Amino acid sequence: SKKSIVIGSGIAGLAAAIRLQTKGFRVQVFESNSFAGGKLSEFHLGEYRFDFGPSLFTLPEEVDELFKITGRDPKDYFEYVRLPVNCHYFWEDGQKLHAYANTDKFAEEVETKLGEPAKKVKSNLQHSAYLYERLAPLFMHRSLHKVNTWTNGDALKSYFQLNKLGLFDTMNGANAKQFDNQKLVQLFNRYATYNGSDPYQTPATLNIIPHLEFNKGAYFPKKGMHDITASLYKLAVDIGVNFQFDSPVEKVLVEKGIANGVVVAGKEHKADLVVNNMDMVNAYKTILKDQKQPKKLLEQPKSSSAMIFYWGIKQHFPELDLHNILFSQNYKEEFDHIFKKKSIYEDPTVYINITSIYKADDAPKGCMNWFTMINVPNNQGQDWDELISEARKNVIQKINRTLKTDIEALIEVEEIVDPRIIESKTSSAQGALYGNSSNNKYAAFLRHANYSSEIKNLYFCGGSVHPGGGIPLCLLSAKIMSEMIA
Ligand code: FAD
Repeated sequence: SKKSIVIGSGIAGLAAAIRLQTKGFRVQVFESNSFAGGKLSEFHLGEYRFDFGPSLFTLPEEVDELFKITGRDPKDYFEYVRLPVNCHYFWEDGQKLHAYANTDKFAEEVETKLGEPAKKVKSNLQHSAYLYERLAPLFMHRSLHKVNTWTNGDALKSYFQLNKLGLFDTMNGANAKQFDNQKLVQLFNRYATYNGSDPYQTPATLNIIPHLEFNKGAYFPKKGMHDITASLYKLAVDIGVNFQFDSPVEKVLVEKGIANGVVVAGKEHKADLVVNNMDMVNAYKTILKDQKQPKKLLEQPKSSSAMIFYWGIKQHFPELDLHNILFSQNYKEEFDHIFKKKSIYEDPTVYINITSIYKADDAPKGCMNWFTMINVPNNQGQDWDELISEARKNVIQKINRTLKTDIEALIEVEEIVDPRIIESKTSSAQGALYGNSSNNKYAAFLRHANYSSEIKNLYFCGGSVHPGGGIPLCLLSAKIMSEMIA
């Protein structure tokens, strides 16, 4: 049988390996790290467990599908539950809001707490569903770079409704038209951060995202986010995929315009097909540096990054849930700092993810594991040590003001991650979480294709190529790519 090499074992690399092995290839994965999963990994600090990166899990059926195509029951490997409440929102003036997964209940909560009519909330979520139905078949499930994507029925239907697809307004513009209550505008604007974009710049098309959380649902893997990649790794091994860790690929071998292997530790490994899961910008700088560079694509602005304070907190906070947001009092200023000033606003929106609420053994009894994150600019050589010490102070003060506590006194263990660490651990350009940003309406067309138009038998998957970053889209990139391979 034919041999395929996969470079990198991020979620997309794992999905690609499983799909190709299922298609009859012998698959060999080379991974620089000593573990699989890339951004989806975990670590322990004392008696606390933390997921390193992603915390929000949507479209679990895309994970299940990988078990099913191998003839296995997903439940034998991987289990998850749907969240009854998507998020607890807090504002400094004491306002709180529970984003119930049930849209009727959520709309009612908004009407009671914020005074915005429930029917406006529901019509907003219906519009989000409309965007998804129109755009998902076109942008998420196909290559944008093949002619038939543009000549099929879905595409034609969409062409004639461009005004309804939100390309001519920003996310904030559309939300401000829909709602009078500024807190609700802020709540819906936050969805831009789900792919590292700026709600004041990104097209209203991204109002597609709330549909995923509210109508399709947010989930929690019973063993933590890391179990998504841990269970896929186990599946891959069970079906015969071969993994080599601590093995950075140094070069993709190309002969007469055809990719036919890679170089690892100075040694050549031949293959009929090469799939790259490494970030494209860094891939063209390293393993593809002798190849023609798609300059315009590589120069696209990157998404935001994150600063994370992983804290073991020796107290239980009953008002907190799995996902919690403590909103900034000036959202516009916060995003101007991230995307224009490339700095961090003094009153940041603080996201606190606490898996010990769903998985008790993630923290000692009566304690909580706080993954405390703020959105920050991607790495452009800022003085991160300085920014960290400033931001840590501001985050602590924000939490103290909003939750009326003295959080610093409750921190038992601490680890801090900044964009430099995200970049060095996963080789994502500038430590961006989601590859390119979606801050302009052409962004969807300015991601790298899932194949090389210059080099035969070279394919791409992962958060820096079409259709984009985030777990569901990474999984779809592997699907689109493998469907191109006969
Ligand atoms: P990556 O996870 O980037 O992995 C790439 C792999 O390739 C790495 O293991 C790396 O070591 C390996 N590699 C690189 N170069 C080489 C080489 N030369 N040779 C061999 N191996 C190599 N998404 C969500 O859906 N929900 C969230 O809540 C969410 N939150 C996030 C929070 C944070 C802090 C971060 C960092 C990301 C978050 N994301 C979230 C985004 C999500 O993590 C990514 O989109 C996704 O995990 C990227 O997967 P990937 O397959 O592109 O590869």
